[in-house]
Amino acid sequence: MALETRTTEGIETGRTILRTEGLTKRFGQFTAVDQVDLEVRRGEFRSIIGPNGAGKTTLFNLVTGALRTTEGSVYFDDDEITSLSPSDRVRRGIGRSFQISNIFGGLSVRENVRLAAQSVERDRYNVLEALFKPTDRYPGMNERTDEVIERVGLEALAEEEADALAYGDKRRLEIGVVLATDPDLVLFDEPTAGMSVEETQATIDLIERVLEDRTLLLIEHDIELVMDLSDRITVLNRGEILAEGTPDDIAANREVQEAYLGGMIE
Ligand code: ADP
Ligand code: MG
Repeated sequence: MALETRTTEGIETGRTILRTEGLTKRFGQFTAVDQVDLEVRRGEFRSIIGPNGAGKTTLFNLVTGALRTTEGSVYFDDDEITSLSPSDRVRRGIGRSFQISNIFGGLSVRENVRLAAQSVERDRYNVLEALFKPTDRYPGMNERTDEVIERVGLEALAEEEADALAYGDKRRLEIGVVLATDPDLVLFDEPTAGMSVEETQATIDLIERVLEDRTLLLIEHDIELVMDLSDRITVLNRGEILAEGTPDDIAANREVQEAYLGGMIE
């Protein structure tokens, strides 16, 4: 178990928060994730890159429990979580923003955030039922909800229906919904897909700002952004880790250049 350490690059990192061992997912004959050993330290900003179909989303699905592993193990904070349900993993501190939206369009901004905050309360069993109970049944919940809404800058829109929000505000709400579960580790799968350059920058700024004290695992196709933001980068190719290291390591890696970057980075 690593104590507080500092890498040679001067990146401050903590002890291991997430570890996978021989993590493998097969769909029939096809191996989408192949013997992946991943180690992420507390406080790290780690990006996962790789061509389409490399297995990035599948890897996330194995970490969050959305998919069952074929082989291998997942550890979170030194506990094995390989067979825990997705909601148990959220309760442990693994938050996730889906490539497909995870907000309820018919509910208000406030209701969406409160629902997410309540979903991690251990003493509650039925989240949907809880939503329609008087809010004073959950002391502290309203404060937490307000705080999250403020942190993502949606105060003025708190009573709006999520469906009525502009695109950028919806993304803000998605980040708020993740934040409301109070995660230690957050996984973002292409949060800027389909965004303009300005929207992309605004979204990344928001993610960095509101999640600054947490560990981030980001799948992102914008290489420049990845090079700019990441402490470390993991390159996946055909389900396997092709390379791993600092942005400089990755930019200088000939194998990565050949297999993926196509000489984009000199
Ligand atoms: P990435 O996110 O890197 O683009 P994915 O993890 O989505 O890649 O997919 C990796 C490979 O696994 C792809 O070839 C994809 O077609 C395949 N795959 C993903 N999910 C399934 C599934 N549920 N059933 C069968 N094949 C799948
Ligand atoms: Mg994907």
